[in-house]
Amino acid sequence: MQAVILSIGDELVLGQTVDTNAAWLSARLVEWGIMTRWHLTVADDQAAITDAILDAASEARLVLITGGLGPTDDDLTRQALAAAMNVPLVLDAESLSHIETFFRGRGRPMAERNKVQALLPRGARALRNEAGTAPGIEAHIGATRVFVMPGVPGEMIHLFDRHIAPALDAWPDAGDSVILTATLHCLGRGESDIAQILGDRMARDRNPLVGTTVANGFIGVRVRSQFPTRAQAADELEAAIADLRQALGPLVVGRDHESLPQIVGDLLRSRNKTLATAESCTAGLIGKYLTDPPGSSAYYLGGNIVYSNAAKHRDLDVPLDMLEQHGAVSEPVAKALAENVRAKFDVDYALAVTGIAGPTGGTPDKPVGLVYLALADRRQPTLIHRVIFPGDRDMVRDRTAKAALNMLRLRLLDS
Ligand code: AMP
Ligand code: MG
Repeated sequence: MQAVILSIGDELVLGQTVDTNAAWLSARLVEWGIMTRWHLTVADDQAAITDAILDAASEARLVLITGGLGPTDDDLTRQALAAAMNVPLVLDAESLSHIETFFRGRGRPMAERNKVQALLPRGARALRNEAGTAPGIEAHIGATRVFVMPGVPGEMIHLFDRHIAPALDAWPDAGDSVILTATLHCLGRGESDIAQILGDRMARDRNPLVGTTVANGFIGVRVRSQFPTRAQAADELEAAIADLRQALGPLVVGRDHESLPQIVGDLLRSRNKTLATAESCTAGLIGKYLTDPPGSSAYYLGGNIVYSNAAKHRDLDVPLDMLEQHGAVSEPVAKALAENVRAKFDVDYALAVTGIAGPTGGTPDKPVGLVYLALADRRQPTLIHRVIFPGDRDMVRDRTAKAALNMLRLRLLDS
């Protein structure tokens, strides 16, 4: 079975908003073995939306629409759907009372124009929206099932999970196979090294099928499992993931939505360890990443941004003659930063980085991208890595922060 996904909104066709809804929906539909035939993006123009709905309905048995359900004059999807179905809009009393309750719950009066959100094409069904005011809509055009959801991504996801996923579960011939996917995020080796390690596991005729992609400094090892039933697809997917984890060992940082800061945080928390940072070239990015997960104050105590030589000396006692003799981007300075910030915060671990982010400031023996990363440990000698990162300033700083977190992750796995 095939689907068409329609995204409605001037902001989308003007390039002001990226259409993330269509991507999210397509990725979900494969779980039911439903392939998306088209993504269509249409401006807030009623006639154009009606045409697109009719085209989509003639092309696929499932049409998912997002956007244009708001209360304002540029929200035209329900009118366009009624026109495509050739029926009038009628008031749905239950939706109206839900919208009134929604406003009452927030202590605000309902604007008159919100009433339009309780209008439905005759013969359509309202899909209750607990995340906002606009109900979704389920309708039929010929043999095609049409679902309309609000454009706000959070509300779209809510309506999909609550109404559309169960409808697809109950649709006997939705798809003849189920596709489940998962991704392992790896760090510390390049894509070709990973491919080398995986060898045969990446053969293109295998199911589950394994492929790699590079994104944001991580190598994603993607697994796609396609089988007649969801249970079989899930079992095969988990078996493949277990096998890949075995082969890749500590190169695997996490899976799917797991992030490096979250994994490092969980390791610190479960071992009851604390951390501080001293950042030169990243100027706080490591601290930012570490505090992305809520609750990070349990293990991350703080740090110093020591961008200038003066700050390295004044705040973290790096000797002036060391800075003079070796330069700020050097092994002894990285080591002193890590050890001194660890002692100052009296923590179990400290990370320090000093490097040349560029685009200027490189020399033949200290090129742009050169970074020293140090990990001080209450119980072990300080570990220092010298790395030359490729890419522009943003990339060097980002890879530096991730490499520092990864050094700590590997140490925590070993301890
Ligand atoms: P609407 O339901 O058309 O009022 O859309 C409300 C808001 O949701 C818009 O202002 C956008 O910021 C967002 N939005 C709408 N459609 C999409 C989409 N396809 N992808 C991502 N965001 C969207
Ligand atoms: Mg809109």
